[in-house]
Amino acid sequence: MLDFLGDLQRTHTCGALRPSDAGKKAILMGWVNRRRDLGSIIFIDLRDRTGVTQVVFDQERNAAMHDKAEALRNEYVVAVIGTVKQRDADTVNKNIPTGEVELVAEELRILNESKQLPFLPCDTVLPNEEMRLKYRYLDLRRDAMQFNIELRHKVALAIRDYLSSQGFFEIETPFMTRSTPEGARDYLVPSRVQPGSFYALPQSPQLFKQILMISGFDRYFQIVRCFRDEDLRADRQPEFTQIDLEMSYPQPEQVWGVVEGFLRAAFKAAGFEIKPPFQRMTYDEAIRLYGSDKPDLRLPAMVDVRQVFSPEELEEFANKFRIRKELPLQLIRIPKAGDISGTERRTIGTYGGYVHVQGPTFVQLISDPKRVVKDYPAIAERMAKVGGVEDGDLWVLAGALNKAESASLMDQSLQGFCQRCGFLRLDLAQKYAEKHGAFKKTGDTTKDFRFLWVTDFPMFEWDKDERRWNPAHHPFTSLHEDDMSRLEANIDSVRDPKSPLGEIRALAYDVVLNGTELGSGSIRIHRQDIQQKIFHALGMSEQEARSRFGFFLEALEYGTPPHGGIALGLDRIVMILAGADSLREVIPFPKTARAVDLMVDAPTPVNEAQLRELGIQVKKL
Ligand code: ASP
Repeated sequence: MLDFLGDLQRTHTCGALRPSDAGKKAILMGWVNRRRDLGSIIFIDLRDRTGVTQVVFDQERNAAMHDKAEALRNEYVVAVIGTVKQRDADTVNKNIPTGEVELVAEELRILNESKQLPFLPCDTVLPNEEMRLKYRYLDLRRDAMQFNIELRHKVALAIRDYLSSQGFFEIETPFMTRSTPEGARDYLVPSRVQPGSFYALPQSPQLFKQILMISGFDRYFQIVRCFRDEDLRADRQPEFTQIDLEMSYPQPEQVWGVVEGFLRAAFKAAGFEIKPPFQRMTYDEAIRLYGSDKPDLRLPAMVDVRQVFSPEELEEFANKFRIRKELPLQLIRIPKAGDISGTERRTIGTYGGYVHVQGPTFVQLISDPKRVVKDYPAIAERMAKVGGVEDGDLWVLAGALNKAESASLMDQSLQGFCQRCGFLRLDLAQKYAEKHGAFKKTGDTTKDFRFLWVTDFPMFEWDKDERRWNPAHHPFTSLHEDDMSRLEANIDSVRDPKSPLGEIRALAYDVVLNGTELGSGSIRIHRQDIQQKIFHALGMSEQEARSRFGFFLEALEYGTPPHGGIALGLDRIVMILAGADSLREVIPFPKTARAVDLMVDAPTPVNEAQLRELGIQVKKL
């Protein structure tokens, strides 16, 4: 028989009682986390989100109540009225903040019972993830999840407070809207009143936030859900949360300053002091030095060692190893990982994703430095010096294979080559993580969190599949003022892979942390004439541009201030702060890799009547 709550009110939470409360009457409510039945005495650990308190039911004191407590099982919900007692020294539990006291029960009300559970919140061994997601409400009761969700709240609150203090207004933008070009597929919502027409869920509030600048709000932000229908990788979710902002009249540095400010506040909320300003690097440098537009600075950059060769030496070396001397000869160094076997050396570059990504023929690897040292002692010494090689480091040289037939097979540009070297660098970094130890947390935030601004991204990128230039960021990104004439000169070359469009720099930037992109943004185009030129360069006819973005092009014509902004992924930031390894650990109700919500069982087919109302017919495949 269950009891009613009646007019009972709890006096304390389950994490609150301390020795100073000894002798007080207390009313606690919560879940039965554990129950230990010692015969005449029953202990339960009573749990709520703030902690657990030990409750004692003593047969001698109150036999009826003790009998009732025998019925308690895991995850029953109870109210206990009792007196706080300081525990004897030998029974103190040092692992919990309430461990010096217990509540001696005088009255027990069983408010609700629980079926046998598929797993217990207090279990130390986790069930499989499918089970966790199906019974998410039970999974969320676990300490670790309670911690992550509270952290998420604190981080979001710190960001809101900071941005508000800097004059940003949080302004909502619609979910039912039209397509925004962020490069993914849209989620569509059919209209009942206009059958055959669809809303698109926003991939980002990009156009709305620009319009808010046109509307005079000066500084906007929103912690907002975005929807992108992409094939999901481990660190993606179909709906995710962005910290989205836009400002009027900013220089890029001002946007960066705001982001550094809110990240500092966010990290502080999680107990980490970070010290902006962050390091900055152009996209070109990042590619040359790290072979990546999101460099992980925790390991050394690559060094182009051609600088230590005389022209004759380089000629000889390049011939001997069949490498192209016009492309870098990259020294890749992994600290403290040097002591590897010959067999292991020979497999470098042939394992993991690397060979899969680069193909076997393009990068010529010289993975046995001993041989270089033997055959070219003077050059090797100079290389080791510029490369910062120390005793015990692993280092390899990567050049571009000089082989006519491979040229037609793949992109042999400087960028293509460096990116392949960058993959190799990361592969080695992963493989030898135990040895170099650079990914382990040290407690020193300047080492543990290596932030970076990557600036001057290219404006356009070549799409191999579609054989055309596409915007590297989105088509509202401004180009460098100095590159305007280059745009005008090449405005009709969208299908030409060799077009100098690829050299045009954008006023676009990314913020990167430990090799992960946290967010990207740009200064926007605020002039209608330039926006039209960009659409033209992207091969979009005036008519097409008008039909997709007419409202926006028109808005640009009514006095648009220069503006710019950025968006960062909140889920990812919280994941990093929580030390979690999946976004699903910090999103209360996430979807699986197949975009399914296992708890509510969505998506599902809908009934005929609903479809009819929407004028939709589903083809059975
Ligand atoms: N809308 C962009 C994105 O979601 C961010 C920005 O340019 O502000 O990536």
